[in-house]
Amino acid sequence: MDIAIMGAGLSGLACAITLEQHGVTPHVYENRSRVGDRFVSAEVLFSFISRPVKDCIEYLSEQFHLYLQPLASVQNLLIYSPNAAASIDGYLGFTNLRGREQESFEAQLSRQLKTPITLNSQKSYEQLLREYTHIVMATGDADYGVKTNNFRKDFTVCIKGAMVEGSFDRNTVRAWLNYDASPGGYGYLIPISEQKANIVIAYSEHRTGVVRQMEPSWDLFKGLVEKELGQTLRVTDHFEISQYAVGICNEGRIGNTFFVGNCFGCIMPYLGFGQFASILTGVYAAYDLLGLGKYEELTAAIRQSYENSLVLRRSMEQLTNKDLDLVVGFLDGYWGDKLLKTSRFDPFKVASYLLRPYVKLKVGATS
Ligand SMILES: Cc1cc2nc3c(=O)[nH]c(=O)nc-3n(C[C@H](O)[C@H](O)[C@H](O)COP(=O)(O)OP(=O)(O)OC[C@H]3O[C@@H](n4cnc5c(N)ncnc54)[C@H](O)[C@@H]3O)c2cc1C
Repeated sequence: MDIAIMGAGLSGLACAITLEQHGVTPHVYENRSRVGDRFVSAEVLFSFISRPVKDCIEYLSEQFHLYLQPLASVQNLLIYSPNAAASIDGYLGFTNLRGREQESFEAQLSRQLKTPITLNSQKSYEQLLREYTHIVMATGDADYGVKTNNFRKDFTVCIKGAMVEGSFDRNTVRAWLNYDASPGGYGYLIPISEQKANIVIAYSEHRTGVVRQMEPSWDLFKGLVEKELGQTLRVTDHFEISQYAVGICNEGRIGNTFFVGNCFGCIMPYLGFGQFASILTGVYAAYDLLGLGKYEELTAAIRQSYENSLVLRRSMEQLTNKDLDLVVGFLDGYWGDKLLKTSRFDPFKVASYLLRPYVKLKVGATS
């Protein structure tokens, strides 16, 4: 069995390490000049996203011997709508780094891999197919899936983010639900240190059928963040992504090709979380290759969770700023604690179950 892994990101590296742990050496191809050679950004692993797993870092370590160090634990989540705010306190998950830094998740994983990675790879999927018996598609995008009609693209998102300097609490993550700034989407602040943070807005590009310019939205959002923090933030680096595809593959495996990470459909349509699921799909593809399980069965829960999250997204997109005030007001106190912190059930599953008839009615009527 000759295995090529296309992409040395979270899912590709998790797959490669798992194979190595079981005595199989794959060949990892990365088209950039080094692992994580992209903008530096902060991301978050919330335990309410990964239920029933409460602590993703511990789970990856205990179950799969994948060792990751986060930046900090999240002890406070503040959510703002135009005229309401919710504060949820207690252990909620972790913040972590991505991109070029030594401590980014991809850099940490690459240090756990013994086999050298082939960098600056120009090899196409078709070339790899001729040279290897098995391919793991881990390029972090839907390009090949779309090309081969194996990806259901549900919507595209534009994302703008910046690294800012100011004064921050390392354990507090903030989120903004304000459709004047990010229509149908959201904005957030994740601290990297006491002096640095990442601020980001993300929203669906075609929600209103009109592609909005990002600049006015960004200025509005940055103003909201600065007002809330009572600080002027200095931008030191920024990035902008358009046409970021969110969708899911029809088949996780076609022939001897496995689709993992974002190629599988690991980005949760509501709130864009995908790290934990991406790592899991990498491990699960390795398990299938090793004869330890069936990829489609192992990924069934991730597929279901994608669909649940899509229902939530579709229903959130229907709301107005006034509705958002009600949602955020509801999350402040008992229900926020119950849903996001203390409870054992999956809030996306519950929300999807409750909202599905509403979405069918509203979206079904317009599509
Ligand atoms: C701005 C932003 C914020 C996010 N925030 C969060 C968050 O807070 N929490 C969360 O859980 N998730 C978040 N996500 C989602 C998460 O980052 C992704 O789901 C996850 O990184 C996907 O892992 P992956 O392995 O599929 O792709 P990646 O980790 O992106 O890796 C793909 C790799 O493939 C390489 N590659 C691409 N094309 C080729 C090719 N042709 N040949 C060889 N190599 C190739 C790339 O260079 C890259 O190294 C965020 C995403 C973005 C964009």
